[in-house]
Amino acid sequence: MADAPIILWFRQDFRLSDHPALTAACQTACAVIPVYIWDEEAEGGWPLGAASKVWLKSLLEALQKRLLKDKGNRLYVFSGDTQIILEQLLKTTGAQAVYAQRRYEPAARKQDEALQKSLQKPFKLFEGGLLHQPEAYLNKQGGPYQVYTPFSKMLFDRLPQISPLPEPATIPALKNLDVLKSLEAMNAKGMSVIDIDSLPLLPANEPDWHSPMMNYWDYGRAGHSVGEGAAQERLQKFIKQAIGDYETARNIPSIEGTSALSPYLHFGEISPAQVWQAIHEAMPREKVAAASAHVFLKELLWREFTHHMLYHFPKTQKESLRAEFRQFPWQSNPGNFKAWQQGQTGYPLVDAGMRQLWATGWMHNRVRMVVGSFLVKNLLISWQEGAAWFWDTLVDADLAQNSFNWQWVGGCGADAAPYFRVFNPVLQGEKFDPDGAYIRRWVPELAALPAKWIHRPWDAPQEVLEKAKLPSHSVYRNPIVDHISTRDKALAAYKSIRKTAASG
Ligand code: FAD
Repeated sequence: MADAPIILWFRQDFRLSDHPALTAACQTACAVIPVYIWDEEAEGGWPLGAASKVWLKSLLEALQKRLLKDKGNRLYVFSGDTQIILEQLLKTTGAQAVYAQRRYEPAARKQDEALQKSLQKPFKLFEGGLLHQPEAYLNKQGGPYQVYTPFSKMLFDRLPQISPLPEPATIPALKNLDVLKSLEAMNAKGMSVIDIDSLPLLPANEPDWHSPMMNYWDYGRAGHSVGEGAAQERLQKFIKQAIGDYETARNIPSIEGTSALSPYLHFGEISPAQVWQAIHEAMPREKVAAASAHVFLKELLWREFTHHMLYHFPKTQKESLRAEFRQFPWQSNPGNFKAWQQGQTGYPLVDAGMRQLWATGWMHNRVRMVVGSFLVKNLLISWQEGAAWFWDTLVDADLAQNSFNWQWVGGCGADAAPYFRVFNPVLQGEKFDPDGAYIRRWVPELAALPAKWIHRPWDAPQEVLEKAKLPSHSVYRNPIVDHISTRDKALAAYKSIRKTAASG
């Protein structure tokens, strides 16, 4: 029993370094059986979206390659009910325990509680996905934080010195041939070890949108792709080239002014502790650059805050935190929703963002705020519909970050932008994409317009539009809605729920 193997269950923590569960398993000097289980049912109504599935496929392949090549071990992949598979695995291999990294989403927590109770062997959870543990950091009244600034100040003060763990030198593989054989042949209730290729991760019978999407990450942005090595390279490139200007460059969507680490952080290809420590180590001496690095650390703490909120207010995965918004008169308009999804609203910045999302699985943060505001305030379509589309199309789709930020944009969440602050997509474009480089890249039919008109083509003189070869039926001559009148309608709708709340 003492030298029985340990099952290391990979979930959203696809890395070998700074992985406390893996390190602890390796420290026992027993064999480690790395396992991945595909179990959509366990995600509580949030099965991975299409873009995330494609990312996951590359990621599993990258992890498998590393385990085989560098560690002489391998990833055992299963598909089915997690509990049944883990029970069967414990039985078949005689393993002494299951080790895993903790997850914080409501469904994952529920699953962990059930596994703690039901597995016949210890199920040990380790931290590593966040910098803080949501139940351990409470406000002075002993409740959860609901405002970002005091939360981030508290974390800057209280986070201990962070020293990420090194990658284990060895991850001892199972040597017992009999156990190995039965593991390979494990077939309880139709479950067996399967190839990554047999998981339903790539879309069937659709135009191939996913190869160009992954090409963007393979070659387009930084010359490397998915997995732990790629995440570390991306972090180093960001530190070398962009951290010093981050405070201003992070708002310019046409340049690589941000880290693009979000999918890697979501899937745990890199830990927040590794990013936190690397930025501290590389902290520039020059005052402005150091201030920029500090702004970046604050963004990492927004990630913590969103998880803090989802942990303490699990309903916010589906409902607005602010109760009065549950009565908001959202409109159903499939035509407008489709135009938004496809980047055909007639508002160049909105459309550029939505097309960037479709092409790459990622969208610049400034533009996420603009397209979100446009959906909930100009089209009066619920934030939940927007969040669902992002969930399906983002490679960094993350339940805490997505539902929190949608509610932030919609003015109905914690510490949110007030509802009456409606982003003007034209002014946002003129301010953050003054020469129109971002629009030209993602909305090529506007590429020939001069910068002066590129954010509001409908105002351009006829001869300018003709010279730019913008057809007379183009949506950019006549956008799907008028910003001013729809903004007024949104404000009236907002007043109506405030009245109801006040009288109720
Ligand atoms: P950087 O600027 O380099 O920031 C570093 C890291 O900090 C990010 O990777 C991310 O983990 C974190 N971060 C930055 N901004 C935020 C923020 N506002 N909230 C929480 N964490 C943040 N981010 C996701 O990771 N997944 C989502 O599903 C998601 N949905 C969003 C939906 C909307 C409507 C909006 C407005 C924002 C959403 N964000 C989401 C937050 C943010 O847009 C992305 O994290 C960011 O654009 C990722 O790019 P980056 O890695 O270059 O960020």
